[in-house]
Amino acid sequence: MTAATLIALFTGQVVAFTYVTAKSDAEIIVHPAGYEGRGGELVVTLGLHPDFADLEDEIAFSAEHVAAIWDSLLVWEENLGPSIEIPKIGGTDFFGTLIHEFGHTLGIAHPTLMANEVNASRGRGKFSMAEPGPNGKFDIDEGPDGIRGSSDDDRGDDINTVYFKKSDNNPFSLPEDDVIDSTTYSRNLEDLPSGSTSPNVASREVAADLFSLPNTEAMIVGGGSLVPAQIRRGLGADDVAAIRYAMSGVDELQGTPDDYSLKIKWVGLSDSSDVIIRFDRPDGYAAAFVGVRAISGNHKAMGKNRIINYNPNLPGNRAWYFPQPSPVESNARAINERALEFDVVTKPGVRYGLSWPDSALEKEEKASSIIIQHDGKNQGAMSGRLFLFVAKGSSTNIKIAFPSMAPDLSEVETFELTARKAN
Ligand SMILES: [Zn+2]
Repeated sequence: MTAATLIALFTGQVVAFTYVTAKSDAEIIVHPAGYEGRGGELVVTLGLHPDFADLEDEIAFSAEHVAAIWDSLLVWEENLGPSIEIPKIGGTDFFGTLIHEFGHTLGIAHPTLMANEVNASRGRGKFSMAEPGPNGKFDIDEGPDGIRGSSDDDRGDDINTVYFKKSDNNPFSLPEDDVIDSTTYSRNLEDLPSGSTSPNVASREVAADLFSLPNTEAMIVGGGSLVPAQIRRGLGADDVAAIRYAMSGVDELQGTPDDYSLKIKWVGLSDSSDVIIRFDRPDGYAAAFVGVRAISGNHKAMGKNRIINYNPNLPGNRAWYFPQPSPVESNARAINERALEFDVVTKPGVRYGLSWPDSALEKEEKASSIIIQHDGKNQGAMSGRLFLFVAKGSSTNIKIAFPSMAPDLSEVETFELTARKAN
């Protein structure tokens, strides 16, 4: 490993998208482990260090589905929700924390400044990530709208490190033509659309106040997994844009030979996976340790064997809770060879889910082709193998259409999402 840097990104602190070394060098783009500047499929594995084998059953559901969510790169609308399965007081969500920390190990960083990095006590939201300019300090003015991290912020001579969508400065949607590269995204403030002086960041405050999206936040926004009574499950558009921008390769152009695709897998116990979960951090909550190496120009790649380390003894009265599938009854039938229907016995206000094996998608099929009918609406899955919902009645009808062949009914699990407290 050359030019290694080690940065800890703490979930316990609050630190559009940016990459892990941006704080020391605003021009850097960080790719996942194994990228060398050539195209093809990049496999990234997630494992649990064998020293913590007694936790494998506890974390398996979260780890398997966090890998599948990042693998699928699907935008999950309303990815922020009530903490139904996690106690509102003292409960700390392992799943939401892992999806956030895993994002760091792929190369992406908090798009917002931590509250203690800027002396800001009024206003709502979090300022966008930047480096101090020639005056040596952060310039923070939330502008007339009073919302930090929004398009009218006046940041003086601060050096912006956050990418924004050039057409509309909206971090909650992807470009309509699905091109995510240097033709559609920029961090040069001169490329902002007219009317904007600063990037909109993908925080829950900007989502709610400016875009009327009450339950939405990029997973990689710092600190969000510790907000009481709320949990984060799938990815936001800005998380997907960050990974997809990097996937356009060192030329930062989508559709050229140096583009890569990502395959992300949970491999269970391993001390040699690309990302290794441990549980012996002495303080704080959880952190990803993300050393990088140079590829070429302003492009770097994550090193191998990155650690996500959890503190098993959380401060105060807090404890980790591990989401688990508890099987529930359902009437299931095949509609045809592509589609399945389930009537799940439910209790209103409780979170349920359906999961099916990876093999339900054939090699060239995309997770975005899975269509789920729930509550009278067609929706996407949150990954190629998972759909979660909050029940409204005593029975919930779900239909799932796969691109070519549905899995066998016996391979689909219907479950209530509960959570077990760490011992
Ligand atoms: Zn973080």
